[in-house]
Amino acid sequence: MGKVLGGVALAAAPARAAAPMPTGSGVTLIRGGYVMTMDPGRGDLPGADILVRDGRIAEIGPGLPVPAGAEVIEAANCVVLPGFVDAHTHGSISQMRGLYGATAETAFFPVTNRLSAHYAPEDTYVGILLSAVESAASGITTSANFFDLVRDRDHAEAGLKALQDAPIRARLLYGMKSKTAADAIDLDHVEEWRRGWEGRSAGGLLSLGVAWRLPGALDDAAAWAIKTREWETARSLGLPLQVHVSGTVPGRAEAMFDALIAREMLRPGLQVIHATDARPDQLEALEAAGAGLVVTPLSEHRVGYGLTRLDGFAGVSRLGFGIDGSGLAGFTDMFALMRLAALTMAGAARDEKAAQPRRLLELATLGGARALGLDAEVGVLAPGRKADLQAVRFDALNLAGFDGGDPSSLLVYSGRPENVALVMLGGRVVKRDGHLVGVDVPALLARARRSIRAVRARAG
Ligand SMILES: [Zn+2]
Repeated sequence: MGKVLGGVALAAAPARAAAPMPTGSGVTLIRGGYVMTMDPGRGDLPGADILVRDGRIAEIGPGLPVPAGAEVIEAANCVVLPGFVDAHTHGSISQMRGLYGATAETAFFPVTNRLSAHYAPEDTYVGILLSAVESAASGITTSANFFDLVRDRDHAEAGLKALQDAPIRARLLYGMKSKTAADAIDLDHVEEWRRGWEGRSAGGLLSLGVAWRLPGALDDAAAWAIKTREWETARSLGLPLQVHVSGTVPGRAEAMFDALIAREMLRPGLQVIHATDARPDQLEALEAAGAGLVVTPLSEHRVGYGLTRLDGFAGVSRLGFGIDGSGLAGFTDMFALMRLAALTMAGAARDEKAAQPRRLLELATLGGARALGLDAEVGVLAPGRKADLQAVRFDALNLAGFDGGDPSSLLVYSGRPENVALVMLGGRVVKRDGHLVGVDVPALLARARRSIRAVRARAG
């Protein structure tokens, strides 16, 4: 008998904050949804079924037979689409949400640097777990975590453990102790993890990368020696890396981008983050080098990196969206991010047609997967791909009135995380009937409150 999305909440969740999420091994048929494959050759399939077997999509089409023993999930009143890809986030600061004000002392960087210096491994664990759980609840199935407050190896292990416990596919990008220090990444630890990564990867859900930063002063030869060694180590280990190209000081981001080009450091597997006002020739160099680009409109607008004008990135083929940390963005909400990007484009262009909802959904799914180099596995719904998907229910007040057809505009302008009824990660249901599976949310919220209270007490 089929399970109907939108039924009653599940019974009491287990006491753990989150249970390890092995890849699904069963057979599931998701039946009758409006399927947006986001696969350029496949398009939309109204009223189609998705057969999931051993963690991957086996078949998509109308009226598929139900295999013996399969679980059937009815999705007749839903749009089914790939899970969102958050191509850049900072999980460990989730519990700092609400602390950032609008003065020099209470702005994002001073508060984050002051408080994170008093983090214990528990705080790192809670922040990253909270971020990943909020992500899963909002339809995000892949997340690239720029893990840059690694105070020591205990914090590193705590961050890794959080992602192992979380219901998410993630890339852990190993970084420095703080956001501003010129100190080096613990490359010995990165190499140790790399050698034994399979045992740390939560059944293949996690991959490893490097959270890299450029020197604070771009003429600092000693700092460049450290940064170049980090870049070369990442390359020799075959690890992807991300680097911020941003700043509120005029000319800073432009000079950072020029430095990457001059030193021939753009390469496949590297993602430039932000680059809000990049010049066309800089983006051409990025594209020619095979590098990716991730823009994070919610945080870019908040901290004053400029307006995120997607029309400026039209020639970038590996372009994705990032939340950039719910602590800064305010929440982990890809719907709100798409909406802000759309409104910014249309407002700046004085033309509502400048924002194409389908394009925004593509960037939130396949685009992010391409930017991260994961598009052979996730980002579209197609046979052989990982069964990372979400179903958004139509019958909610904020979606009422929609009567079928292309739901792109509805999702971008009206969608909310609460409308995500089902999330599947590698064939395993992690959100069902609008409720996370195996996550004790009240316990997690209490743990986050205890964490930030203790951090603020230690910081004095
Ligand atoms: Zn960032």
